[in-house]
Amino acid sequence: APAVDWSAVRADFPLLARTVRGGRQLVYLDSAATAQKPNVVLEAEVDFYEQRNAAVHRGAHQLAEEATEAFEDARVAVATFVGADPGEIVWAPGATAALNLVAYAFSNATAGRGGARAERFVLRPGDEIVVTEAEHHANLVPWQELCARTGAVLRWFGVTDDGRLDLSDLDAVITERTRVVAFGHVSNVTGAVAPVATLVEAARRVGAVTVLDACQSVPNLPVDLHALGVDFAAFSAHKMLGPTGVGALYGRRELLEAMPPVTTGGSMVEVVTMQETTYAPPPQRFEAGTQMVAQAVGMGVAAQWLDELGMDAVAEHERQLAAELLKIADIPGVRVIGPLDTADRLAVVSFVVDGVHAHDVGQVLDDKGIAVRVGHHCAQPLHRRFGVAATARASASVYTTVEEIVAFREALAGVRAFFGAE
Ligand code: PMP
Repeated sequence: APAVDWSAVRADFPLLARTVRGGRQLVYLDSAATAQKPNVVLEAEVDFYEQRNAAVHRGAHQLAEEATEAFEDARVAVATFVGADPGEIVWAPGATAALNLVAYAFSNATAGRGGARAERFVLRPGDEIVVTEAEHHANLVPWQELCARTGAVLRWFGVTDDGRLDLSDLDAVITERTRVVAFGHVSNVTGAVAPVATLVEAARRVGAVTVLDACQSVPNLPVDLHALGVDFAAFSAHKMLGPTGVGALYGRRELLEAMPPVTTGGSMVEVVTMQETTYAPPPQRFEAGTQMVAQAVGMGVAAQWLDELGMDAVAEHERQLAAELLKIADIPGVRVIGPLDTADRLAVVSFVVDGVHAHDVGQVLDDKGIAVRVGHHCAQPLHRRFGVAATARASASVYTTVEEIVAFREALAGVRAFFGAE
């Protein structure tokens, strides 16, 4: 493949041209929270509203046909991007909604909804759900709630000192009692890539369903869900250069077919009488009500755009950016939470500065136009594991430059002196 012109890529993102804090050039290092959008995505949404806007899957008129086609083409683009079949992609408002959908499907099945074929989703007393201490709250709280609704028991893997999953007690945690293994592909705090194959194999051995939080992997790595062999996966468009308000739940066909619906209403039904209702096959069974069509179209374009850029090239580019970010570990007083080498970790780097609160670190950087995230990044247990209440986090995307990271490092090097912490 020809080398990618990364400065041309960057030029496609209008927001990155703006200044902040009194004329300073913006240095956006918060892409793990939400990524900026290229022109093609912005134009796709405007074009949809200007040319095709209509209710999908209904109506016999031309606009409805064109809107439906755009909506379903987007599903194909997203499916292709993550190595899935279009029928295995369910639109959701985001990863949080997608993960909650799966968790609620389990309790609906447990409550007797879904009939005999929903057996794989029925939980019984003593059944266990396995997560990890590194999870984003979006892949932890829904499972805690599911346990509370069904009487299932939550168990988890810990994290090593360098921020990787500690699977040393794998066979003690994933057992014959395990029914679900839910874990993040890439931590939004440490950047560490989880050993998916090991966890999938362990889950399969005991017949447990695997749920992958792919929020941080899909935007930054080539992800082939069929090859990974997970049963479910969730990701959000807004982190992969697409719009807010849309994401996807991937479900292996056989599981989606067996899964009871959660949100019920229009568009997800076959026959409705005053007494009862039969449901449409997936993915429609899980898409009740008017969908976020323009956003889905934008997500499809983002997926296609990344596909054309080439995710191998993106991953290699971001590996170099990760190496640049990790040089902050050499700054006196800076401690990185997570792996220090670039193997099996992405360009999302969380850190603490001795004697300076993360919010103050963020403010000093912001004064220079450098946007990082501060706080617990929706991962309080992981922060507790490292004995810190908050960290600052710098993260990169396709448009991030080495020059920006150098500016960030230089600003960070001055933070302790600024606060008299040296
Ligand atoms: N999981 C991970 C690892 C994330 O980084 C995020 C977003 N911060 C989510 C889940 C939740 O995604 P969303 O807010 O788009 O639903």
